[in-house]
Amino acid sequence: MDDAFRFADDLGPARIVHVHEPGLGLRGTLVVDNVATGPSIGGLRMAPDVGTEECFRLARAMTLKNAAAGLAHGGGKSVLYGDPRMPRERKEQLIRAFACNLRGVEDYIFGPDMGTDETCMAWVHDEIGRAVGLPREIGGIPLDELGATGFGLVHATEVALAHLAIPLAGARVAVQGFGAVGLHAARLLAERGARIVGVSDSRGAVADPGGLDVAALVVGKRAGRSVGEHAGGKRIAPDALVDVECEVWIPAARPDVLREDNAPRLRARAVVSGANIPATPEAEKILHERGVLSVPDFIANAGGVICAAMEYHGATQEAAFRAIEERIRANTEAVLADAARRGVPTRRAAVDLAVARVRRAMDTRRWSIF
Ligand code: NAD
Repeated sequence: MDDAFRFADDLGPARIVHVHEPGLGLRGTLVVDNVATGPSIGGLRMAPDVGTEECFRLARAMTLKNAAAGLAHGGGKSVLYGDPRMPRERKEQLIRAFACNLRGVEDYIFGPDMGTDETCMAWVHDEIGRAVGLPREIGGIPLDELGATGFGLVHATEVALAHLAIPLAGARVAVQGFGAVGLHAARLLAERGARIVGVSDSRGAVADPGGLDVAALVVGKRAGRSVGEHAGGKRIAPDALVDVECEVWIPAARPDVLREDNAPRLRARAVVSGANIPATPEAEKILHERGVLSVPDFIANAGGVICAAMEYHGATQEAAFRAIEERIRANTEAVLADAARRGVPTRRAAVDLAVARVRRAMDTRRWSIF
């Protein structure tokens, strides 16, 4: 079979588009995976080392995430080769040209991802009118500033704790990563009475079994300081966060932070994933065998894309947050209940739930995946 079809299975991808303009030094790829549920929404990632395979895997993850979230949107993703910190004029030129070239691919809606932000989405919107994650001035809901994903994580955490018959008030939570996702998750959980017993960022980590002062951590972070410079608590090595005893451990930083070597050390009753693929398959297996309840990434961290989809359909911020709460709670409950009933890992239950929704949508189409 032709190499171009090496990713093809019965769910997608419906198309892969490579965009090349030597005059600009533009190289980019779009993967539209499966649009049975509706036009795809997925981020534009910019990095020097992106690739077609990465783009496909991210597009497939969006198919599952959007279907699980009950959005009338399929999965897609795009990547642009280049250093996202290049001069603004050059970045704008590349992104505008990439968007223009993809003007005709109407079943893909651009969103922000690593290396792109709301200004980049405004450029895309200006060219082709098809982007989410826009600045507020042109109809956007600033999801990272508001903490849409962190807000969703709070609801996933509440449902997971209820499943374990542990009250949220007083529950101990450790959060890895203190950025758009982790900071808001910690802030909102603390507001609801949880005790944040450990946090980390790329430069440091701090722990306090009695509970950290999250408001002070937020002030420090916004002033450009690492959480490791926090006045209270005890300074620990960032990779020692995994040893902090807690009820809930929230990864909100990088992929593959829980691995075969450190998963046995985790002293938590539940892992609620803010980051994408924070645990390797081996680590997930270990956690499952040890009885650590895990709420999979694409169920727990869908707050951002739910917010983006609601923005696309002209919803208010209030309606977007209501949708995040309702959908993430319902999905977390459904996944945990199904996994318990069948005795399977929660990721298996989550994938089955998402794929069943995609397949039901596929059954209604003249063709299947597009
Ligand atoms: P961000 O860049 O705002 O924050 C990342 C945080 O992680 C920073 O505080 C950084 O210092 C910290 N970090 C980096 N390396 C670390 C390490 N080795 N140990 C501890 N901390 C480390 O990014 P974000 O938007 O908060 O995204 C975090 C994760 O959540 C990513 O995996 C992202 O793909 C995923 N995610 C984000 C959203 C969203 O709405 N922003 C939605 C879904 C999933």
